[in-house]
Amino acid sequence: MNDRVWIFDTTLRDGEQSPGCSMTVPEKIKLARKLAELGVDVMEAGFPIASDGDFEAVDAISREFHWVQVAALARSCTGDVVRAARALEKAKRPRIHTFIATSDIHLKFKLKKSRQQVLEDAVAAVTLARQYVDDVEFSAEDGARTDPGYLEEVSKAVVAAGARTVNIPDTVGYSTPDEYGELIGRIVKVLGDSAVVSVHCHDDLGLAVANSLAAVQAGARQIECTVNGIGERAGNCSLEEVVMVMKTRNDRYHYKTGIHAEHLYAVSQLLSSIITFGVQPNKAIVGRNAFAHEAGIHQDGYLKEKSTYEIIDPRSVGVPEGRLVLGKHSGRHALKSRCEDLGFVLTREELDTVYTEFTTLADRKKGIMDEEIVKLIERIAKTAAAQVAG
Ligand code: MN
Repeated sequence: MNDRVWIFDTTLRDGEQSPGCSMTVPEKIKLARKLAELGVDVMEAGFPIASDGDFEAVDAISREFHWVQVAALARSCTGDVVRAARALEKAKRPRIHTFIATSDIHLKFKLKKSRQQVLEDAVAAVTLARQYVDDVEFSAEDGARTDPGYLEEVSKAVVAAGARTVNIPDTVGYSTPDEYGELIGRIVKVLGDSAVVSVHCHDDLGLAVANSLAAVQAGARQIECTVNGIGERAGNCSLEEVVMVMKTRNDRYHYKTGIHAEHLYAVSQLLSSIITFGVQPNKAIVGRNAFAHEAGIHQDGYLKEKSTYEIIDPRSVGVPEGRLVLGKHSGRHALKSRCEDLGFVLTREELDTVYTEFTTLADRKKGIMDEEIVKLIERIAKTAAAQVAG
């Protein structure tokens, strides 16, 4: 089986529609430029029926980034599909992404439609979308909670109507890797080579990345994800994490993506500067502490050989270098190394004095800045000079 996994970025759509993440059209274009550099295969630029801003964003991104596949979202109804098609008019590689919920819970309480009606709506939307573009994706919203037999039926019907990609989202982040992998395996088996099976996982139980990987192992070949994992509620599958698992553990996950990982940190930083929040410091891959070491034993090992405590070269994801954070858990070795980096070669006695003062300071304060270390050394040097003079 083909080992290429398509990265479908939905930072500008699912991500953008979550609290605190609204972006203006110019901001979306700025981010889209970085996403194109990063090498995403498909960029979902918006939901054109939802607002004029979304329509404009899809239109503008379609004009500007003609080498990327640009997707626009549409519910499975005429108005939405036509609006998405209009927004994509200028795209060289347009994709209409149409969806309808398929789980009984959504059918009963939200859509108030029968399974047969939903199936017909899905087929009609895909058929209509195919009149505008060749590349149509269908999503069975709440797919992970949909009856598998019905999901197979819908999947076959939309492919027969012309969909090239069938996405099975875990819309509410409820599935587990084994369960989701099994479901995806069933759909892959039913569709064979007739369509690409895609996954779209939410992180309500912290399983979005694990579920996406389980799905890929079961035969899915497109992952929908977002930068920094932003998105509805607890967010989507994090792009940087899922890509780096496949890269770092290629021995277990023998897949390739088109992502140029060295841009990951810059895209993450840009997104944080546009929306109202950044990532938590301990976020994998792009968090401030992702490559920081403070514990003495760790710092000592790291200084002797990086691979003792570092599984990814920070530069490979665009982070300038691993960071040793000097704090109360740091040892002499790390302090000596930092002093040398700062231009101070200390004798054993000097280091002892600096170290004693440093630990006193570190007891009161979390994380000691380089400037504070410089001040400390200078003060100690001055005292020593005064003692000699006296
Ligand atoms: Mn979603």
